[in-house]
Amino acid sequence: MRGVVQGVGFRPFVYQLAVRHGLTGYVGNDTAGVIVEVQGEAEQVERFLEDLSAHPPPLARVHRVESLERPAIPESVFTIRPSQTTTDRSSSIPADVATCADCLRELFDPSDRRYRYPFINCCHCGPRFTIIRSLPYDRPATTMAGFAPCADCEQEYHDPANRRFHAQPVACPVCGPMVWLESDDATRIERDDAIRTAVRVLDGGGILAVKGVGGFHLACDATNADAVARLRERKGRMDKPFAVMVKDVEWAKRVAAINDDHAAVLIGPERPIVMLERHPGQGGRMDGVAPGLHTIGLMLPYSPLHHLLLGDRPLVMTSGNSGNEPIARDNTEARERLGELADAFLMHDRDIHSVCDDSVIRVFAGHEYPIRRSRGYAPLPVKLPRAGKTVLAVGGEMKATLCVTSGDHAYLSPHLGDVENPDTLAALDRTADHLLELFRLEPDRIACDLHPGYLSADWAARFAERRGIPLVRVQHHHAHVASLLVDAGGNGGPMLVACFDGTGYGTDGSIWGGEFFLADGDRIDRVGNLKSIPLPGGDAAIRRPYRVALAHLWAAGLPWCDDLPCVAACPPAERKILRQQLDRNVNCVPTSSMGRLFDAIASLVGVRHEVSYEGQAAMELEALAGEGAEPYPFAISGADPVVLDPGPLLSSIVADLRAHVSVQLIASRFHAAIAEMIRVVASRRNVPVVGLTGGVFQNIALLNLVSHRLRADGRTVLTHRQVPCNDGGLSLGQAAIAGGIR
Ligand code: ZN
Ligand code: ZN
Ligand code: FE
Repeated sequence: MRGVVQGVGFRPFVYQLAVRHGLTGYVGNDTAGVIVEVQGEAEQVERFLEDLSAHPPPLARVHRVESLERPAIPESVFTIRPSQTTTDRSSSIPADVATCADCLRELFDPSDRRYRYPFINCCHCGPRFTIIRSLPYDRPATTMAGFAPCADCEQEYHDPANRRFHAQPVACPVCGPMVWLESDDATRIERDDAIRTAVRVLDGGGILAVKGVGGFHLACDATNADAVARLRERKGRMDKPFAVMVKDVEWAKRVAAINDDHAAVLIGPERPIVMLERHPGQGGRMDGVAPGLHTIGLMLPYSPLHHLLLGDRPLVMTSGNSGNEPIARDNTEARERLGELADAFLMHDRDIHSVCDDSVIRVFAGHEYPIRRSRGYAPLPVKLPRAGKTVLAVGGEMKATLCVTSGDHAYLSPHLGDVENPDTLAALDRTADHLLELFRLEPDRIACDLHPGYLSADWAARFAERRGIPLVRVQHHHAHVASLLVDAGGNGGPMLVACFDGTGYGTDGSIWGGEFFLADGDRIDRVGNLKSIPLPGGDAAIRRPYRVALAHLWAAGLPWCDDLPCVAACPPAERKILRQQLDRNVNCVPTSSMGRLFDAIASLVGVRHEVSYEGQAAMELEALAGEGAEPYPFAISGADPVVLDPGPLLSSIVADLRAHVSVQLIASRFHAAIAEMIRVVASRRNVPVVGLTGGVFQNIALLNLVSHRLRADGRTVLTHRQVPCNDGGLSLGQAAIAGGIR
């Protein structure tokens, strides 16, 4: 059996099944998956096979079962064999799983020997990917190797009737890892006292660094505005939202609107951060957590330590790093890098081998819509439509992930962050090595972005040279489109894809980001785009949306009048320089970016003139948008490619501003206009299927508006389900193109 069959209680499950059917033989792991040999009455063997595929263990994902007949041999029992290392193709690696209900019951049962033990786990829950050093997945190949099990744990491990039968990270207070608390006064408090003292630190408004499953978190009381403000100050994170961990779904309902789909994702074994709509006026005490937004990211506790820390109070749980550094992984690193940030450290001695940030999920149309695919999901494979070459793809620059392919499986790394400094580049380097070693892969090709200035592209070029393999540079938006095609399927027939994001290097050297592609078979052709405008000063404009607004006004031939919020936000001296740059076309980068158009509108209407994190202006604009508004007009010219000019839209907004139309209505009409652009291009091309990808589609309000319009025209809409529409999904698309699958 191949698929996710290791570390999910598969061997015990097969054992119990075989014994129930009175069969002899064995079950074992190897790097290719799980191997079973059974012998017995033909009828029993048949039933065994039926049960095997009908009710696999809850966390298993069986991708393929191959079987063949062997001659009978003398054997009298069914056994579980120790793992064998083979050179065959690797199997999948299980992802980390949140504490299960059975373990939770024991955790809070005073008569249980693991009462309040923060490392309780079983066959169906606990750390997996983050502690695995190599395959096959057995205790000596994990960071639990140094903890020799005590007699009780050993007994449970070997008892087929026990729910810890062959649970690799099995541990207890006698033999397993331990927590302790470190603070400034150099006192060290151990075990349960450490947890109780840590709770008091949080009670007192302190900031606690907590070692979790995939890295350190910085935690504080989410209802304590001073503590939240202090955390922002120390982290140097002005407005970017913090995730909040709450006790259960009931608690989450106090803060946000939660339907059954949201609840299912919240309590799922992956335990991601779920982006939810806040109750209007609710959570006033938690305003500092997500300033200016109508959404809040909530997650439920996923490690026993979280359950012990949380109690009835919501906690900010933000990744343990400052700025754009990677999340802190080991104790030494945490002491060094988080020393200035945390008042105390709750540490433990179970090492984290692979860093894994929390995943972030939105729910769209009843299914998961990933924003960040990391802990709980990585490195579970994404199925490719067919087998291609073995590729290592390094993604782009922002929100990078790596992807390696093997046969028809693509394995994506956890979220690496923005690869723009030596720290994140080192994380990329380490992750690439680890993934290739784990899966025993020798890439035929390496893929990266077309952008000449990306650190990841340089890294890929060096890798290609060292290994003597071809480097494939994939255009940014082609990669987005390919990623959607792999993720969402499609029938291979002609399909229009709207690919809207902030920045991507185009094949003509300009910056793209408001693009339409026609995907047909193996071809991906650009068939339309937002009208290109000159953007003065490039990156400076990304941090200051008012500059983009002024550039858009200039391009639309609209005067910079002082009554417009974006003009007022620009200091007169800067205005003068901008004007000269635009008039003379000096230092201007042409861009067709849709993300920049959102920035421009946010500033034009006075919502946001400067941003402290990527996507802030667009998110605040989304927060204001409602349904049912009349779209603003826009102009269309050309046939192939078709060019969409937002000029009329801008002049209508200027008129509405002067007529004192509400910002909510303007934002709604703007969103409707973007949706209408896609509808119009789709009907001109008259394609039955329309795909939506690129970071702009993290905007659920827009996604809803577009989908309604397209469906009303009888078209099918394809959106992401397994990988993010943002640059976190790029590596998958790069790998698909370089591997010859698209
Ligand atoms: Zn469990
Ligand atoms: Zn033990
Ligand atoms: Fe992008």
